[in-house]
Amino acid sequence: MARRCPVCGKELTSDRRDPNYPFCSRRCKLVDLGNWLSDKYRISEPIPNSEGVNPETETEEEKK
Ligand SMILES: [Zn+2]
Repeated sequence: MARRCPVCGKELTSDRRDPNYPFCSRRCKLVDLGNWLSDKYRISEPIPNSEGVNPETETEEEKK
């Protein structure tokens, strides 16, 4: 059973020894990596700063 490139859907001619596996080409590999990185940044954005250095919180305390 032939695998397909998850980026462009093209049938793979490469196997697991191919450096681009499981993508059909280096280009698709980079596209997928770019998507993965942008997803990661989007998800990590709303996570509050664990060090407690939040500028918004500091402003609220000054108002008191
Ligand atoms: Zn591809």
